[in-house]
Amino acid sequence: MKRILVSGGAGFIGSHLCTRLVNEGNDVICLDNYYTGSKENVWHLIGRPNFELVRHDVINPYWAEVDEIYNLACPASPIHYQHDPIQTTKTAVVGSMNLLGLAKRTHAKILQASTSEVYGDPAIHPQTEDYWGNVNCVGVRSCYDEGKRCAETLFMDYYRRHGVRIKIIRIFNTYGPRMLAYDGRVVSNFVVQALKNKDITIYGDGQQTRSFQYVDDLIEGMVRMMATEDSFTGPVNIGNPREFTILELAELVIKIIGSKSKIIFEPLPHDDPRQRKPDITLARTKLDWEPKVRLEEGLIPMIEYFKTIIDKI
Ligand code: NAD
Ligand code: UDP
Repeated sequence: MKRILVSGGAGFIGSHLCTRLVNEGNDVICLDNYYTGSKENVWHLIGRPNFELVRHDVINPYWAEVDEIYNLACPASPIHYQHDPIQTTKTAVVGSMNLLGLAKRTHAKILQASTSEVYGDPAIHPQTEDYWGNVNCVGVRSCYDEGKRCAETLFMDYYRRHGVRIKIIRIFNTYGPRMLAYDGRVVSNFVVQALKNKDITIYGDGQQTRSFQYVDDLIEGMVRMMATEDSFTGPVNIGNPREFTILELAELVIKIIGSKSKIIFEPLPHDDPRQRKPDITLARTKLDWEPKVRLEEGLIPMIEYFKTIIDKI
């Protein structure tokens, strides 16, 4: 049994990761300040003897004896990370330093949940890990993008200077049950709008693209990355390379739900990337990993989840 700390464990992705790690028999500490996460997300784990839920803000140090750390703490949706941008940068940067310090002291392995946003509005397509990105450092998304880029720098410097066993994954757009209903992310927005037969809000002309991975595929990739040999640090792209326009996504959600919603077009937010699609050659080679769940399949459990809470949201 490993002792594993998951920061941001009460969030969307963190709750799925904690579930997997607890079910495998590990001793899991879930740290969260509930900024965007909630106890409800991990309700099903409370009472399990190998699960511990701790209210804690990672901008303050935390001490525990652990073997592995997954660092997920950080608001991930534009609405939330822009709500308090200074706190977002602090969480990404100071939070990472605190957990890297913990990894250094305990000789734990530590995995950083980085993001495709480090590529900004990419000038190459699809994005490979050796692409340095096209990121605005003074825009409204910068608190998140640059915070995550600085976190990657810190991870690499703790590796080079202190020999900390680090892993960096760059997560591309992920969806699934327990996403927040009104956090502005496109899949949850469209599903909720379609279930309520409200207008589907496409920003811009809907021709911008994203690649959507189902959360179970991501969790498998994270666990495989943590298990790689110490000399392999990443960064590694973890995402689904199948690319959709936002308009195609809207039409698919309407079709699966059988919704009466109409599509409307609204202004595109600042710095909204035109295209995004991961090159996952490295993940295929080093992790023997590739996504298994097609968007048409993954939307079903996501929609079922939102049906159970639709009257309350
Ligand atoms: P989420 O907002 O649901 O989860 C983030 C969790 O971190 C929440 O539970 C929140 O309360 C917690 N948190 C935030 N600030 C904290 C702090 N200072 N101290 C302690 N806890 C704090 O988002 P998510 O989609 O589950 O994302 C998890 C991680 O994966 C994030 O680091 C995000 O940047 C990364 N990521 C997600 C996606 C995606 O598509 N969902 C894509 C790329 C990267
Ligand atoms: N988007 C949209 N309608 C919405 C929410 C988002 O058209 O109701 C668009 C958004 O402008 C972006 C894409 O969908 O082009 C993905 O947005 P999201 O915030 O989910 O992810 P990110 O931009 O961070 O990849």
